[in-house]
Amino acid sequence: MDKTLLTTLTERFGKRVTTSPLDRELYSRDLAPVPDVLVKPLFQAKADVIVRPRSSQEIAELMRLASSASMPVTPRAGGATVFFDSVPTRGGMLIDLGLLAGVVALDEANMLVTVRAGTTWEDLEKNLNVRGFACKSMPSSAPAATVGGWFAMMGYGIGSIKYGDLLSQIREAEVVMPDGEIRTVTADSTPPLSWFAASEGTLGIVTALKMEIRKDRPMKHVLMHIADSKQAVRIMQDLLAAPSPPYNLHFSDPHALAAMHALGYAPKPEHGLHLLVDYEGTETELREIDTHLATLRNAGQKHAGVSFAPAGEAEAEWQQRFSSLRLKRGGPSLLGGELWLPVKRLADYLANIETVARRHATPLMTYGHVVSATHATVMTMFYADERQRLHYILDLGLVKKIQDVGARLGGTCYGVGLWNTPYLKRLHPAAARKRLRRRKKEIDPLGLMNPGKLYAPPLALNPYTFHLGMEAALLARRVLRKKR
Ligand SMILES: Cc1cc2nc3c(=O)[nH]c(=O)nc-3n(C[C@H](O)[C@H](O)[C@H](O)COP(=O)(O)OP(=O)(O)OC[C@H]3O[C@@H](n4cnc5c(N)ncnc54)[C@H](O)[C@@H]3O)c2cc1C
Repeated sequence: MDKTLLTTLTERFGKRVTTSPLDRELYSRDLAPVPDVLVKPLFQAKADVIVRPRSSQEIAELMRLASSASMPVTPRAGGATVFFDSVPTRGGMLIDLGLLAGVVALDEANMLVTVRAGTTWEDLEKNLNVRGFACKSMPSSAPAATVGGWFAMMGYGIGSIKYGDLLSQIREAEVVMPDGEIRTVTADSTPPLSWFAASEGTLGIVTALKMEIRKDRPMKHVLMHIADSKQAVRIMQDLLAAPSPPYNLHFSDPHALAAMHALGYAPKPEHGLHLLVDYEGTETELREIDTHLATLRNAGQKHAGVSFAPAGEAEAEWQQRFSSLRLKRGGPSLLGGELWLPVKRLADYLANIETVARRHATPLMTYGHVVSATHATVMTMFYADERQRLHYILDLGLVKKIQDVGARLGGTCYGVGLWNTPYLKRLHPAAARKRLRRRKKEIDPLGLMNPGKLYAPPLALNPYTFHLGMEAALLARRVLRKKR
């Protein structure tokens, strides 16, 4: 790396700059382990330098320095993503946003909070709760995921059914542009706020968000077991169409439940799909919801295969809402695909996934959240072993198979980063992809912000060769498993 630039950085940021091999190694990964043999020949995942700024002004200075040295910049916050979203592909400067944390202002009268982008959702929620308020929604990775990180990603999670995606709750954002200018963006500004949502750190660095909050109100939790997944989908749709929709709706299939049971986290699964329905509202609203639930309970008693768990179990499930990765403890590793899927296709999806699991002799575990009146985010995972490199690489073929099942049913990948770029054509029609690329060129003409992500697959991930490679991996996997 350029010595003059490093000297300038060290003079300005002192111990908050590092080029240590260990740090660069640590920052070259995210939550999904990818064997070096797939990364090293193709990408420069190790940043040349890592800096931890404390303010928007410092970030602006870093952006100006990087831009004058034509150095790529990768923003990284909680690092709680799995598609190399916050891992460099061309080295350069990694900006760790962890020090950019804390609530700036709470406007109780207008129910708005201004928060710095590196604040985790869990910290923000705790901060609001002591004042009688709460976040409208948050990701189930809240202990690690940051406010800015979720805004830069898809922004759907717990609470989204009732309060919409994160973008719809944001009034304004402070953004440091690639040229170092600090701007306030709103729905009506040029460029508008919406350009930065789900932009995965490719257009600038969001440093603060002013967002809507809610009153911290009582909750009600209901846990159901439903033997038939088609019936489960009908019940979900009924709940979503009710005058007071749930705050959160989480489902797990019997394989995910059995794995949780084996790890000692869940009671022995009774049968079928496990549905946790959470409500929040005023006492009056919760009473109305009670009436609706009583109807459902009566209907459930009439239908074989629907049962309700004791209230304590439902409450305990809610308390575990941020612990979905406990499944990993059955590992050594977990691989899988995350999808954005129409709720109405969920039963077909589960049936198709069951077929894939049988054909490939691999138990597949599925769980997810319904996040809007029509869509769910769905995770289908399986155990793998990253220490057995060849098998692990071949297992990646099964990840693609999961994506393919979703795509056939109108689903797409949820989040792009680097590894999902081969699916971009499934995600956006040609005109939308062109619009996104034009936007990128306008805001980041040098292409320095988080290169390799979101807009087009790099050569190494060309969709055609990617497809052939993954199919070959899957075939080899089947052959090897038969021999074992
Ligand atoms: C157990 C688990 C549960 C999850 N649940 C959900 C869920 O409910 N909903 C959901 O959508 N996702 C979920 N995720 C995925 C992930 O946690 C979220 O996308 C989360 O918002 C990532 O935030 P982060 O702070 O870790 O961002 P990082 O992983 O650090 O970064 C994500 C992307 O955003 C960019 N970025 C980060 N901060 C900024 C910023 N301030 N300005 C500009 N760009 C920035 C990075 O460059 C990168 O491209 C889950 C993941 C796990 C492991």
